[in-house]
Amino acid sequence: MPVAGLGPYDAQNIFARILRGEIPCRRVFEDAHALAFHDITPRAPVHVLVIPKGPYVSFADFSARGSDAEIAGFFRAVGQVATAIGLDAPGYRLLSNMGADGGQEVPHFHVHLFGGVPLGPMIMPDTAATA
Ligand code: 5GP
Repeated sequence: MPVAGLGPYDAQNIFARILRGEIPCRRVFEDAHALAFHDITPRAPVHVLVIPKGPYVSFADFSARGSDAEIAGFFRAVGQVATAIGLDAPGYRLLSNMGADGGQEVPHFHVHLFGGVPLGPMIMPDTAATA
């Protein structure tokens, strides 16, 4: 079920538990600002999640409250992850679901990195037509 993108941070959310090492993940990258790991239910041949280390509920929360260092560090890490897993040349898609309409399920800000195959249209044509 999608969750609201704003609200108090839940320190028991699944990504907080992964950050604390309470739940395993298939880690691909870690630095001071970010952790990247394979999605447990991949929607593409390559599907990696990148999360900031701070307690931010959503993109809205992170972009509003994150420090300049956290925001710069996080997005540089996303780029480094994409390069490290070989996606720069073939290309990839970055996506962040925000709040209920965005379909966000885990209330810790994250971006999805998809690749490994041509990914098709950005969004369902039917959805775009009714927006
Ligand atoms: P959202 O819908 O919030 O943008 O995406 C959450 C993502 O987290 C989903 O793609 C889901 O498969 C992934 N996910 C949920 N629980 C776990 C978990 O325990 N481990 C990993 N690696 N991914 C998870």
